Amino acid sequence: MSIVAITRGNLYPSREEIHRQVYRAIDLLGGINSFIKKGERVLIKPNVTEDHPADRGTTTDPYIVEALVGLCRQAGAGEIIIGEGAGVGKDSLECMEKTGWFMFTEKGIRLVDLNKEEKVKISIPNGLVFKELKIAKLALEVDAIINVPVLKTHVATLITCCLKNMKGVIPYESKKAMHFHGLHEGIVDLNTVIKPRLNVVDALVAQEGLGPVSGTPLPLGMIMAGADAAAVDTVGAHIMGVEVREVRHLVLAGEKGVGCNQLKEIKVVGEKLEDCVHPFVRPDLKLEFAGFKIISEKGCSGCNMQVMMTLKRMDAAGELDLLRKRYSKVNIIFGQGDLTEEGLSILVGNCQKKNRAKGALFVEGCPPAGWYIRDAIRKELLGLETLVDPGPIDL
Ligand code: SF4
Repeated sequence: MSIVAITRGNLYPSREEIHRQVYRAIDLLGGINSFIKKGERVLIKPNVTEDHPADRGTTTDPYIVEALVGLCRQAGAGEIIIGEGAGVGKDSLECMEKTGWFMFTEKGIRLVDLNKEEKVKISIPNGLVFKELKIAKLALEVDAIINVPVLKTHVATLITCCLKNMKGVIPYESKKAMHFHGLHEGIVDLNTVIKPRLNVVDALVAQEGLGPVSGTPLPLGMIMAGADAAAVDTVGAHIMGVEVREVRHLVLAGEKGVGCNQLKEIKVVGEKLEDCVHPFVRPDLKLEFAGFKIISEKGCSGCNMQVMMTLKRMDAAGELDLLRKRYSKVNIIFGQGDLTEEGLSILVGNCQKKNRAKGALFVEGCPPAGWYIRDAIRKELLGLETLVDPGPIDL
């Protein structure tokens, strides 16, 4: 049976209180020696996908990792490395520098950008969408990975926690490829070959609403831990007021045997689970932008969220006004519907491939990432430069 530990402390804990909470969580799982052996090389993979400090609920609190480093040293770990591969368009080490992670270099810990590490292609047996994936070689070479995500809502996947955080070990081109082939399926394929030995979730300050970077910080004062990433995510989803069936990668992870997604089969130790439930505000799905007709017949939340985030960002940058000035009627279409509207039609997502010859622009992906939709509109319809270096996409 999978075991998940939950600890809860002050909403605004001190460094020492954070350390104590981590120690307690690991003790509840049998102690660090159950996970790390003498001489082992350990990669700690936090979430530092942005340069926001931990109190915004976007990135992992470095003090959680500081406690884990201490525990690994206590267990006699040979080498401890902290590695992150930030999202497309972000520099991992820059994000780490701005959020306090360089304190670890003074402690003799190497910080690495997993996006820039040597990568190797490995095969994914019976992958849902990938037969092979490029992965940072370091993540395959170390003896153990400790995964330290943040509990957050996510505009494309509803929640992000342990399973999704492992996306950091694949390079940019594979991250992009996941958006083309299927994000949820890609996450599960990755987790069939990369299995952290321990997952420790930062829910000291979680994030709700428009997560994973534009949401609202939600101080919960909690830490969760467990060996089974899917089980920890299942417990995390329950705390957030989300059903497993609403999170496709969690459903698929159960079906593929990646881990347990059945709450009744997970033993929760430490805090009582029901006392920790705190339904998160979900990403706002409203799609109302003056002058734009959004058609989403049988479209799913993946495209809905990416379209909404794209339009919000473009609105804030004045780019929707440029579109309005240039085109009298703009339709944005995703999901299964047919193209029957007059005007300029932007087709988003692989479900719209069937209409691509009739639209002004087709943006491929399932769902396509928001930055990709925005750049396609900027380049093809507004004649502006792209904002993110597209680089190669490992299709
Ligand atoms: S392409 Fe289709 S299936 Fe994929 S996220 Fe968009 S609407 Fe959903």
